[in-house]
Amino acid sequence: MKLSVKEFVKDFKNQFQSMYAYPYEEGSTEQLYNALGLLIKNYVSSNWKDTRESYIKQSAKQVYYFSMEFLPGRQLKSNTYNLGLLETVSKGLDQLGLSLDELAEAEADPALGNGGLGRLASCFMDSLASMAIPGNGNGIRYQYGLFRQKFVDGYQVELPENWLRYRNVWETRNDKSTCMVRFGGNVWLEENEQGHLEPKYENTLNVLAVPYDTPMVGYKNERVNNLRLWSAEIPVEEESNYLTIDATDPIKEITEALYPDDSNYEGRLLRLKQEYFMVSAGVQSILRHYRKYNMPRKNIPDKVAIHINDTHPALVIPEMMRILIDEEHLSWDQAWEITFKTCSYTNHTILREALEKWPIDMMKELLPRIYMIIEEINNRYVEHMLPLYGERITWQTAILQNGVVNMAHLAVIGSHSVNGVAQLHTDILMNDVLKDFFEIYPERFNNKTNGITQRRWMHLANPDLTQLLDDKIGKAWKSNPAELKVFKGYEKDKQTIKELAEVKLNNKKKLAAHIEKVKGITVDPNAIFDVQIKRLHAYKRQHMNLLHILHRYLEIKQNPSVDYVPRVFIFGAKAAPSYVYAKQIIKVINAVGDLVNNDPDIGNKLKVVFFENYGVSLAEKIIPATDVSEQISLASMEASGTSNMKFMANGALTLATLDGANIEIRDYVGEENMFIFGLTSDEVYEVRGNGSYNARELYQSNSTVKRVLDALINGTILNLEGEGDALFDSLVNYNDEYLVLKDFESYIQAHEAIDALYKDQKEWTRKSLLNIASSAPFSADYTISRYAEDIWKVKPCCPGKLKVQPRNEPMY
Ligand SMILES: *Cc1c(COP(=O)(O)O)cnc(C)c1O
Repeated sequence: MKLSVKEFVKDFKNQFQSMYAYPYEEGSTEQLYNALGLLIKNYVSSNWKDTRESYIKQSAKQVYYFSMEFLPGRQLKSNTYNLGLLETVSKGLDQLGLSLDELAEAEADPALGNGGLGRLASCFMDSLASMAIPGNGNGIRYQYGLFRQKFVDGYQVELPENWLRYRNVWETRNDKSTCMVRFGGNVWLEENEQGHLEPKYENTLNVLAVPYDTPMVGYKNERVNNLRLWSAEIPVEEESNYLTIDATDPIKEITEALYPDDSNYEGRLLRLKQEYFMVSAGVQSILRHYRKYNMPRKNIPDKVAIHINDTHPALVIPEMMRILIDEEHLSWDQAWEITFKTCSYTNHTILREALEKWPIDMMKELLPRIYMIIEEINNRYVEHMLPLYGERITWQTAILQNGVVNMAHLAVIGSHSVNGVAQLHTDILMNDVLKDFFEIYPERFNNKTNGITQRRWMHLANPDLTQLLDDKIGKAWKSNPAELKVFKGYEKDKQTIKELAEVKLNNKKKLAAHIEKVKGITVDPNAIFDVQIKRLHAYKRQHMNLLHILHRYLEIKQNPSVDYVPRVFIFGAKAAPSYVYAKQIIKVINAVGDLVNNDPDIGNKLKVVFFENYGVSLAEKIIPATDVSEQISLASMEASGTSNMKFMANGALTLATLDGANIEIRDYVGEENMFIFGLTSDEVYEVRGNGSYNARELYQSNSTVKRVLDALINGTILNLEGEGDALFDSLVNYNDEYLVLKDFESYIQAHEAIDALYKDQKEWTRKSLLNIASSAPFSADYTISRYAEDIWKVKPCCPGKLKVQPRNEPMY
C-alpha cells in the first residue's frame, strides 16, 4: 500500500490520541504498541473487505484449514511488512523518537499451539494469503495459551499464559456470525410431516460459539484472508438459567486453555468437547456462507475444501453429515458424496500413543447424534468392505474397535485425500501405520513435505542476511524463492564468503548479548553455536545431546589440552506438564549446565544455555545466530520437522539422522554439506523388530558410553534428586526405547567432524552459503501450491487484480 512517512506520522498521532486522549509522548510502551497495531489493522481493513467480497462475487472455491492449534508469532512486523509499509513505519516512528523494534516486543506472542503442528498451520496461513489463494483458518481462541515456562532450581514450572491481558489488537469479534453448538442430552429420531426422520433433542447443553476474526495479510498483493477462532459463551437467551458464576464453568472451560500436550492424549472429556465445539461452529459457518453462492448443495465440493490438520478436527466428517441430513434433508448417499469429496486429511505422527482414540461411551454421552452417525458410517463401511477385503483388513480398518472410536480411521474413510508431511513419513504411513488403508485406497495417499514462510523466518528474522542476498542476487528471490539458487554462484567468491561470515558473527553477537541479559551467562560469539530447540520428547533425543555434552566435559577434565573448538550448546524446550521423563531431562540438562558453566577448568570450551519459555519469538532470535542445527530424532520417529528448514535457510549446518525432511534437505544440499549420523529408518525397524538390541550389554562393553552413563549416577552432577538415576534406568534397565546408546558413538564422531570443519572458516561458510542457496524448496509457498493443485483444487483468486502473479517458475 502507498503511504508517505508524513501521512503515517499524522495517522499515528491521531490514532493514539483518539484511543487514550493524551499525546503519544505520555504513552506507555503497551499503549504505543496498541495504537500502532490498531492503525496497521485499519490499513489492512479495506483489503480485508475487498478480498472477502471478491471471493463471493467470483464464486471462488475456498479452503478451510481446521486446526486445533495455530502458532502465529507476533504479528505487528509481519503485517506491516506484508503490507509493504515496514520502512515507512520504521522511519515515521524514528521521527517521533520511537523504535519499531521496541514496540514490536510489547506484543504478546500468542502460544495457541504446542509446536510444529501449530506453527505449520500459521506458515500455511501466511502462504495462502501471499499466494492469493482463498483460504481460511478455523480454530479455537484459547483464553490461556500454552503455559509460560520458568525454571526454578532447574525444574520446569508452569505458569498461566494470559496472552489477552493487554487486549489483542488484531482480532475482531464478529457477533453477526455466531453459531449454537449442542452437547449431551437425549436424541431420538421422529418422522415429520414430509416423511423425513428428524432428530429431536432434549436436555442438551447449548453453547454459543462466538467468532473472533484475524486478518491474514498477503505479501504485497492486497489480499487479506481470514483466521477464525471460536470462543465459547452462554447463549444470551439462556443467561437466566445460570444462577451462579460457578454454574457457567462447564461452558467457559471449553475455550479456556490449550491442551498442553501434542503427542499423547489422555482420554479427557474436555478435549473432546473442544474438538467438537470448534468443528461444529466451523462447519455451520461454512455452510451458511455457502448459501451466499446460490448454488445447489451437490456443488459444495466444487466451492469448499475442508482440511483436517491431524485427527483432532476429524469430527468435521460426521458433523457435516449431520447438518446435510438432519437440517438440509439430503439422503445419506448424497450427504456422503458431498462430505467425502470436501474433506482431506493430513497425518502428522506415527507415534502409537499419539493416535487419537475416544471411548465409545464418552462419545455417546457427550455427542449422541454424532455418535449415531459415526456408527452408521462404520456399519456401512464394514458391510461394503467385508466381501471385498475379508475379515482381517475390514476389522483392522474399522472406525469402531474394542470400545473406542479410532479417529485416524474416521479421517481416512471420510476424506478423498490422506497425506504425510515428508516423503519418508508418507512411505511409513503406506507401508506400516496405514498399510491396510493403502491397500484399499491407494489413490488417496500422497505426500506433501512441510515448508516454512521465508517472510517470517528470513526476511524479518534475519535482516542482515536478507540485505546481503538482495545485494548479491537481487530482490526477486523474495517473491520467487526459486531465485535463491542463484546464490550458489557465489560459493567461490571470497568477498561474499567474508560478508556472509560477518552477517553470522553479527547475529551471534546479538544473541550473545541476549544470553547475557536473560541468563547472565557470558558466551564467546566466536564459539560454535550449537542449537536444539523444539518440544521436549524422548524421541527427539535431547538427552543424547546432553550425554554428548557430558562426554566433552569429562574429556576436558581428563585431558585439559584436548583439541575442542569452543562450543555453546543452546536449548529451548517445553515439556508437557504430565510428561515426567521429559521434565527429568530438563532438570539434568540444567544441572549439567550449572556444572559446566561454573567450572574454571572448562572456561570458554563449553557453555550450556537453556532458554526458558521457548516459542516463536525466541526462535526468531536464535535461528539466525545458529551454526549447528541439531535434528537428531531416532530415524522414522519425526514426521517432518520444520525447524530443520528454518535453520538451513539461515545458513546453519544440519547435524542429523536420516529422519523426516532431513532426508530431503540432504537431497537438495548434498550429504557433504551436512553432518549425517546414526541408524537409518530401515535399520531402526530391523533392530527394533528382531529384538536384538541390548542396551545393558552396550553399556558394559563400551567404555565411552559407560563413563558418561556412570556420571549420571555417581555424584558428578550436583543438585539432582534422582533425575540422573531416572535417565540411567530408562537407558540401561529399560533398554533405551529410542536407541540413544546405539547411535551415540556415531553422534560423537559427527561432532568431531564439526570441530574439524569449523577450523576452516572459509570452507564452513561456503557450506553455509550452499545451505541457504538450497533452501528454496522448503518454502511453504511451494507446499501450499501443491496442496492447492493436488488436494484442494483451488486457484489463486481474482487474477484481474493480482499484483504479484502466481509463480510461473518451475515449482519444487
Ligand atoms: C518451528 C517451530 C517448531 C517445530 O520445531 P521442530 O524442531 O520441527 O519440532 C516448534 N515450536 C516453534 C515455536 C517453532 O517455531
